[in-house]
Amino acid sequence: MAVLQDLLDALRGGSVEVVDLTAKLHAGTPILQLPLQFENALPFSLSEISRYDDRGPAWYWNNIHTSEHTGTHFDAPVHWITGKDGEDVAQVPPRSLVAPAVVLDFSAETDPDFLLEIEHVRQWESEHGALPEGGWLLYRTGWDARSEDSGAFLNADDTGSPHTPGISVECARWLAEESPVLGVGVETVGTDAGAAHSFDPPFPCHSFLLGAGKYGLTQLQNLALLPATGALVIAAPLPIVGGSGSPARVLALVERP
Ligand code: MN
Repeated sequence: MAVLQDLLDALRGGSVEVVDLTAKLHAGTPILQLPLQFENALPFSLSEISRYDDRGPAWYWNNIHTSEHTGTHFDAPVHWITGKDGEDVAQVPPRSLVAPAVVLDFSAETDPDFLLEIEHVRQWESEHGALPEGGWLLYRTGWDARSEDSGAFLNADDTGSPHTPGISVECARWLAEESPVLGVGVETVGTDAGAAHSFDPPFPCHSFLLGAGKYGLTQLQNLALLPATGALVIAAPLPIVGGSGSPARVLALVERP
């Protein structure tokens, strides 16, 4: 099929670049910290099975310990109570994992509690065109620069409340129910703002988007290397049967002039 050969030629020639949007996974990868009355996720870790030794003389391998929601990961609809009758991560159609993406850049905002509003998206659309049908809205905040420093990344105050940018209740509802996107991708630990536990409803991105059968992508990196429009994203969560999400490798194909 000529289009795939053309793509391979473009990749080889450098006119299409592969940008890795995935954070490295290691024991220090920041994870969400819920208040103590709730159960928290495990941090990522490796435990060695063998390393060219008497446990396995010619091979090295590890068991991995992780939550479904550790590092760059995919939120499936069933992750939230509003989406409990929706898809688990193994049921997400492969066709949904290859999709166009737009980048809304709010990395110049200095307020750590900055919220994306409908009028911000409308303003962006007046410059760049409509949000993509069946595509990702990738929300750039500059937060990826903090991703190797868990304290700065989670940005909790003295009372333990996190201050990280997110999306307002009204905008989350609009993106879920009225916009054509298939999901929202962010650079922060979750799709919702750090303060979203206090919103009405709490965690509106999770509540509205997953409730509408849409998806989330978190802890993305390198959105600065993407154009505002025109990137193609491949988001690849593991097909964990019954899973609410999965660590994912997220790649973007970008045309270079
Ligand atoms: Mn998640």
